Amino acid sequence: MKPDLSDLPGGKLYIGGEWRTGNGSRIRSVFSADQSLNREFSGASQQDGLDAIDAARHAQSDRDWLDLKPHQRASYLHAISDGIAANIDRIAFIQSRDTGKTLTEATALAQSAAATFRYFAAVCETSDEALTTPRGDYLTFSMHEPLGVVAAITPWNSPIASDAQKIAPALAAGNAVVLKPASWSPLVSLELARIIDKTGLPKGLFSVLPGSGREIGNLLVEHPDIAKVSFTGGTGTGREIARKAAEKLMPVSLELGGKSPTIVFDDADIDLAIAGILFGIFSSSGQSCIAGSRLFVQRNIFEQFVARLVEATERLKTGHPHEADTQVAPLVHVDHRREVETYVAVARQEGGRILTGGDRPSDANLQAGAYYLPTIIAGLDNRSRICREEIFGPVLVVLPFEDEADVIAQSNDNEYGLACGLWTSDFSKSWRVARAIRAGTVWINTFKQFSISTPFGGDKASGVGREKGRDGMRAYMRQKSLYQDVSGKPHPWARWPVS
Ligand code: NDP
Repeated sequence: MKPDLSDLPGGKLYIGGEWRTGNGSRIRSVFSADQSLNREFSGASQQDGLDAIDAARHAQSDRDWLDLKPHQRASYLHAISDGIAANIDRIAFIQSRDTGKTLTEATALAQSAAATFRYFAAVCETSDEALTTPRGDYLTFSMHEPLGVVAAITPWNSPIASDAQKIAPALAAGNAVVLKPASWSPLVSLELARIIDKTGLPKGLFSVLPGSGREIGNLLVEHPDIAKVSFTGGTGTGREIARKAAEKLMPVSLELGGKSPTIVFDDADIDLAIAGILFGIFSSSGQSCIAGSRLFVQRNIFEQFVARLVEATERLKTGHPHEADTQVAPLVHVDHRREVETYVAVARQEGGRILTGGDRPSDANLQAGAYYLPTIIAGLDNRSRICREEIFGPVLVVLPFEDEADVIAQSNDNEYGLACGLWTSDFSKSWRVARAIRAGTVWINTFKQFSISTPFGGDKASGVGREKGRDGMRAYMRQKSLYQDVSGKPHPWARWPVS
């Protein structure tokens, strides 16, 4: 069921299991396809944040929650998954309004969120504790316990998926979660609160605090009752959070930015490569942490490959996110488009040649939206600013390379290490190169495929820790070791009792 605009969530915050009007700074969610207002409301104040943390602490330490058996806790996650699955169209519509994403992509993200809760319900029910190998007359157990109250801080580019990737494993592990969504895209997180509320999850275990990152994000990071911050966002913000976490000696998971290389060898299946590269950089209008934004093509096929890529790019449909054939939707916000435009201007100043795009579309129907054409730039060095910094828009830089050693060196010559895609028909070469690239994920003859069971995260400035996979739940737990004597004899060192 799609909501009409009057039915969009927003207006109220979800704190400690209650809906209340916020007392903080104003939040404006705008549909970037035409600048129409989705919702404007007061976000969380410091007091709202403190109340959410307090409610979370109480709910998490309640024996009724702590003593639930894993299969009982899992039943809440199944209920959340079912709630999302029953509302896919509605969630997709809200997310599309909030971010400008196509309905197709927003639908896929909603489906993946449902799958994430289902997956972590299964992980919760099936994770075993270990009986470790003893070195004496005792049994040794390695157990996992919840951390307490976890703060999840998420960005605007795929909110429902990023939210689920944090909330599901954290609840599965027995924590309480306080979620702070991005200020540009708070609505889908509030919709998730509506769904979670209906499952009967004990009040306080989940709260949503739309609000400014500097105020509310910072409050969560610094608060002594927050036991972990799971953050997805920019590398600069991630560094700031890590510094504050170090003061508290608090664990963090940081999923940060990227400048991922894609590599086409001269023996690649060209059609496979072109389709993968287009999807890798231009889907989500390039607003993807794993966007393949630096393309290296082997020099002997460079000219003809790039010509075909440009031709394929010019066939992509830039259009309204609710039209079924749209491939490139508007950017999230006109302010963000301004940043992308600044980067393209820098590329021009640095001597880059714009092979296609480099502008807003001329279509009269798209003038009100934050649209930007898929753009390909050549003629720059891998050390140029455009090749070093994350643009987070539909902008691809193409560069030639000589051989394996050269492309490995150029790919790794970047502060980020999130992902990489490579295309070759040589199996051995693909494995050699994949192993030599510093990146959390490498795709071979494909790109941007995701499985909830496969760990995801960054290397170097792209992050710390991994999400997803069976170990994804353990990232929200602390380990405890138990020793149980089985000898029944006093320790000999004490020489006691005296016989
Ligand atoms: P930001 O780092 O600006 O914001 C992310 C979140 O952090 C928002 O909720 C923001 O709130 C909040 N925040 C901002 N400042 C602080 C602070 N000082 N303390 C605590 N929280 C704060 O990133 P963007 O929203 O611009 O998102 C884009 C970035 O996210 C890109 O770099 C992208 O690569 C990265 N990303 C990484 C992914 C990964 O898995 N590796 C996946 C998706 C995106 P507010 O909105 O109010 O400013």
